[in-house]
Amino acid sequence: MVILSQQVLRTDLAGMPLEWIDYRAAARLYFLGQVAYACGEPMLTLHGGINARTREQSRLEIHSIIATHGTHQALNKLRDDYVPPLSNRTLFQRDDHLCLYCGGRFSVRHLSRDHVRPLSQDGHDHWNNVVSACVRCNNYKAGRTPEAAGMELLAVPFTPTHAEYIYLMGRHVLADQMDFLRAHFPRTSPLLRRLVRQRAAQTGERPAVAEPARVILGGCLAGDAQDAA
Ligand SMILES: [Zn+2]
Repeated sequence: MVILSQQVLRTDLAGMPLEWIDYRAAARLYFLGQVAYACGEPMLTLHGGINARTREQSRLEIHSIIATHGTHQALNKLRDDYVPPLSNRTLFQRDDHLCLYCGGRFSVRHLSRDHVRPLSQDGHDHWNNVVSACVRCNNYKAGRTPEAAGMELLAVPFTPTHAEYIYLMGRHVLADQMDFLRAHFPRTSPLLRRLVRQRAAQTGERPAVAEPARVILGGCLAGDAQDAA
Protein backbone atom coordinates (compact mmCIF):
# COMPACT_ATOMS: atom_id res chain seq x y z
CA MET A 1 0.00 0.00 0.00
CA VAL A 2 1.27 3.44 -0.84
CA ILE A 3 1.28 5.83 2.05
CA LEU A 4 0.75 9.55 1.64
CA SER A 5 4.27 10.31 2.80
CA GLN A 6 5.63 8.44 -0.23
CA GLN A 7 7.81 10.80 -2.24
CA VAL A 8 7.57 11.48 -5.95
CA LEU A 9 10.79 11.75 -7.93
CA ARG A 10 10.79 14.86 -10.11
CA THR A 11 13.02 15.06 -13.16
CA ASP A 12 13.63 17.66 -15.84
CA LEU A 13 12.38 17.24 -19.40
CA ALA A 14 15.41 15.16 -20.35
CA GLY A 15 14.77 12.81 -17.44
CA MET A 16 17.59 14.02 -15.20
CA PRO A 17 16.59 13.49 -11.56
CA LEU A 18 16.03 16.82 -9.77
CA GLU A 19 14.41 16.34 -6.38
CA TRP A 20 11.89 14.57 -4.19
CA ILE A 21 8.50 16.20 -3.79
CA ASP A 22 5.42 15.17 -1.85
CA TYR A 23 2.15 14.20 -3.50
CA ARG A 24 0.64 17.67 -2.96
CA ALA A 25 3.46 19.36 -4.84
CA ALA A 26 3.14 16.72 -7.55
CA ALA A 27 -0.62 17.32 -7.82
CA ARG A 28 0.01 21.05 -8.13
CA LEU A 29 2.43 20.44 -11.02
CA TYR A 30 -0.16 18.25 -12.76
CA PHE A 31 -2.83 20.95 -12.39
CA LEU A 32 -0.47 23.67 -13.62
CA GLY A 33 0.26 21.61 -16.71
CA GLN A 34 3.91 21.36 -15.73
CA VAL A 35 4.12 17.57 -16.02
CA ALA A 36 5.46 16.71 -19.46
CA TYR A 37 5.25 12.96 -19.00
CA ALA A 38 5.14 10.42 -16.23
CA CYS A 39 7.37 7.42 -15.72
CA GLY A 40 7.25 4.67 -13.22
CA GLU A 41 4.20 3.11 -11.73
CA PRO A 42 0.99 4.96 -10.89
CA MET A 43 1.49 5.54 -7.20
CA LEU A 44 -1.60 7.25 -5.93
CA THR A 45 -5.03 8.30 -7.21
CA LEU A 46 -6.49 11.54 -5.90
CA HIS A 47 -10.22 12.16 -6.17
CA GLY A 48 -11.48 15.69 -6.68
CA GLY A 49 -14.81 17.43 -7.10
CA ILE A 50 -17.84 16.37 -9.18
CA ASN A 51 -18.14 18.02 -12.57
CA ALA A 52 -21.55 19.79 -12.60
CA ARG A 53 -22.16 19.00 -16.26
CA THR A 54 -20.91 15.44 -16.59
CA ARG A 55 -21.57 14.43 -12.96
CA GLU A 56 -18.23 12.67 -13.05
CA GLN A 57 -15.75 12.93 -10.23
CA SER A 58 -12.35 14.17 -11.31
CA ARG A 59 -9.45 11.91 -10.54
CA LEU A 60 -5.74 12.41 -10.81
CA GLU A 61 -3.27 9.59 -11.02
CA ILE A 62 0.12 10.48 -9.59
CA HIS A 63 3.10 8.51 -10.84
CA SER A 64 6.22 7.70 -8.87
CA ILE A 65 8.43 9.63 -11.34
CA ILE A 66 7.34 12.75 -13.22
CA ALA A 67 9.25 14.79 -15.80
CA THR A 68 8.46 18.48 -15.61
CA HIS A 69 8.86 21.69 -17.59
CA GLY A 70 10.51 24.83 -16.29
CA THR A 71 13.37 23.45 -14.30
CA HIS A 72 16.04 25.93 -15.34
CA GLN A 73 16.91 26.90 -11.75
CA ALA A 74 17.84 23.30 -11.09
CA LEU A 75 20.23 23.01 -14.00
CA ASN A 76 23.30 24.07 -12.05
CA LYS A 77 22.85 20.96 -9.93
CA LEU A 78 23.55 18.84 -12.98
CA ARG A 79 26.94 20.38 -13.66
CA ASP A 80 29.97 18.16 -13.23
CA ASP A 81 31.47 20.37 -10.55
CA TYR A 82 28.28 20.46 -8.48
CA VAL A 83 28.90 19.52 -4.86
CA PRO A 84 25.80 18.56 -2.89
CA PRO A 85 25.40 19.98 0.61
CA LEU A 86 27.02 17.88 3.30
CA SER A 87 24.87 16.73 6.20
CA ASN A 88 25.32 13.93 8.71
CA ARG A 89 22.15 12.26 7.50
CA THR A 90 23.34 11.92 3.90
CA LEU A 91 26.91 11.19 4.98
CA PHE A 92 25.77 8.25 7.13
CA GLN A 93 23.58 7.07 4.26
CA ARG A 94 26.55 7.30 1.89
CA ASP A 95 28.58 5.08 4.22
CA ASP A 96 25.63 2.71 4.78
CA HIS A 97 25.65 3.51 8.52
CA LEU A 98 28.97 1.73 8.90
CA CYS A 99 31.86 3.01 10.92
CA LEU A 100 34.58 3.21 8.28
CA TYR A 101 37.22 2.32 10.89
CA CYS A 102 35.87 -0.69 12.79
CA GLY A 103 33.28 -1.75 10.18
CA GLY A 104 30.44 -1.95 12.68
CA ARG A 105 26.94 -0.86 11.72
CA PHE A 106 25.44 1.76 14.02
CA SER A 107 22.27 3.77 14.49
CA VAL A 108 22.45 7.47 13.66
CA ARG A 109 22.68 8.24 17.38
CA HIS A 110 25.95 6.34 17.69
CA LEU A 111 27.61 7.67 14.55
CA SER A 112 29.61 10.83 14.08
CA ARG A 113 31.28 12.76 11.28
CA ASP A 114 35.01 12.10 11.28
CA HIS A 115 37.38 14.37 9.38
CA VAL A 116 39.97 12.00 7.96
CA ARG A 117 42.52 14.78 7.93
CA PRO A 118 41.56 16.66 11.07
CA LEU A 119 40.31 20.23 10.83
CA SER A 120 43.18 21.18 13.17
CA GLN A 121 45.60 19.94 10.47
CA ASP A 122 44.01 21.93 7.64
CA GLY A 123 41.54 19.17 6.73
CA HIS A 124 38.35 20.38 5.09
CA ASP A 125 34.73 19.79 5.97
CA HIS A 126 34.16 18.27 2.54
CA TRP A 127 32.67 14.99 1.30
CA ASN A 128 36.13 13.77 0.25
CA ASN A 129 37.52 14.27 3.73
CA VAL A 130 34.69 12.98 5.92
CA VAL A 131 33.52 9.49 6.85
CA SER A 132 31.03 7.96 9.24
CA ALA A 133 32.71 6.81 12.41
CA CYS A 134 31.29 5.33 15.58
CA VAL A 135 31.71 7.52 18.62
CA ARG A 136 34.26 5.14 20.10
CA CYS A 137 36.54 5.11 17.03
CA ASN A 138 36.18 8.86 16.58
CA ASN A 139 37.16 9.48 20.20
CA TYR A 140 40.13 7.15 19.87
CA LYS A 141 41.33 8.78 16.65
CA ALA A 142 40.83 12.26 18.11
CA GLY A 143 42.83 14.98 16.31
CA ARG A 144 45.06 12.57 14.40
CA THR A 145 45.22 11.29 10.86
CA PRO A 146 44.37 7.57 10.44
CA GLU A 147 48.08 6.83 9.89
CA ALA A 148 49.12 8.61 13.06
CA ALA A 149 46.40 6.78 14.99
CA GLY A 150 47.32 3.41 13.42
CA MET A 151 43.81 3.07 11.96
CA GLU A 152 42.83 1.95 8.52
CA LEU A 153 40.01 3.39 6.43
CA LEU A 154 37.73 0.68 5.06
CA ALA A 155 36.59 2.75 2.07
CA VAL A 156 37.62 5.90 0.27
CA PRO A 157 35.29 8.84 0.91
CA PHE A 158 33.70 10.31 -2.22
CA THR A 159 31.52 13.21 -3.30
CA PRO A 160 28.12 12.02 -4.51
CA THR A 161 26.86 13.20 -7.89
CA HIS A 162 23.51 14.94 -7.84
CA ALA A 163 21.68 11.69 -8.76
CA GLU A 164 23.51 9.82 -5.99
CA TYR A 165 22.69 12.62 -3.57
CA ILE A 166 18.99 12.40 -4.43
CA TYR A 167 19.12 8.68 -3.76
CA LEU A 168 20.78 9.36 -0.37
CA MET A 169 18.06 11.91 0.43
CA GLY A 170 15.25 9.49 -0.40
CA ARG A 171 12.93 7.94 2.15
CA HIS A 172 11.27 4.64 1.27
CA VAL A 173 12.60 4.75 -2.29
CA LEU A 174 10.33 2.60 -4.50
CA ALA A 175 11.84 -0.09 -6.72
CA ASP A 176 11.11 1.80 -9.94
CA GLN A 177 12.52 5.05 -8.51
CA MET A 178 15.62 3.17 -7.39
CA ASP A 179 16.12 1.69 -10.86
CA PHE A 180 15.63 5.09 -12.42
CA LEU A 181 18.21 6.75 -10.17
CA ARG A 182 20.64 3.87 -10.55
CA ALA A 183 20.65 4.40 -14.29
CA HIS A 184 22.04 7.89 -13.65
CA PHE A 185 24.85 6.81 -11.33
CA PRO A 186 28.39 6.87 -12.72
CA ARG A 187 29.67 3.46 -13.77
CA THR A 188 32.26 3.57 -10.99
CA SER A 189 29.74 4.57 -8.31
CA PRO A 190 30.40 2.82 -4.99
CA LEU A 191 26.67 3.17 -4.32
CA LEU A 192 25.92 1.24 -7.47
CA ARG A 193 28.19 -1.60 -6.36
CA ARG A 194 26.47 -1.65 -2.99
CA LEU A 195 22.99 -1.77 -4.54
CA VAL A 196 24.02 -4.62 -6.83
CA ARG A 197 25.38 -6.52 -3.82
CA GLN A 198 22.25 -5.86 -1.77
CA ARG A 199 19.96 -6.99 -4.55
CA ALA A 200 22.02 -10.15 -5.01
CA ALA A 201 21.80 -10.85 -1.28
CA GLN A 202 18.01 -10.42 -1.38
CA THR A 203 17.43 -12.58 -4.42
CA GLY A 204 20.15 -15.13 -3.68
CA GLU A 205 21.58 -14.59 -7.15
CA ARG A 206 25.22 -14.04 -7.90
CA PRO A 207 26.07 -10.33 -7.95
CA ALA A 208 25.90 -9.14 -11.53
CA VAL A 209 28.47 -6.71 -12.84
CA ALA A 210 27.30 -3.22 -11.98
CA GLU A 211 25.30 -2.01 -14.97
CA PRO A 212 24.41 1.65 -14.79
CA ALA A 213 24.07 2.25 -18.49
CA ARG A 214 20.58 1.04 -19.13
CA VAL A 215 18.86 2.54 -22.12
CA ILE A 216 16.89 5.61 -21.23
CA LEU A 217 14.17 6.60 -23.67
CA GLY A 218 12.65 10.03 -23.31
CA GLY A 219 13.72 10.00 -19.70
CA CYS A 220 12.00 6.69 -18.91
CA LEU A 221 13.78 3.42 -18.43
CA ALA A 222 13.26 1.23 -21.44
CA GLY A 223 12.87 -1.90 -19.39
CA ASP A 224 12.85 -2.27 -15.69
CA ALA A 225 9.89 -0.33 -14.31
CA GLN A 226 7.50 -1.87 -16.77
CA ASP A 227 9.03 -5.33 -16.59
CA ALA A 228 8.68 -5.38 -12.85
CA ALA A 229 4.90 -5.05 -13.08
ZN1 LIG B 1 34.05 2.26 14.93
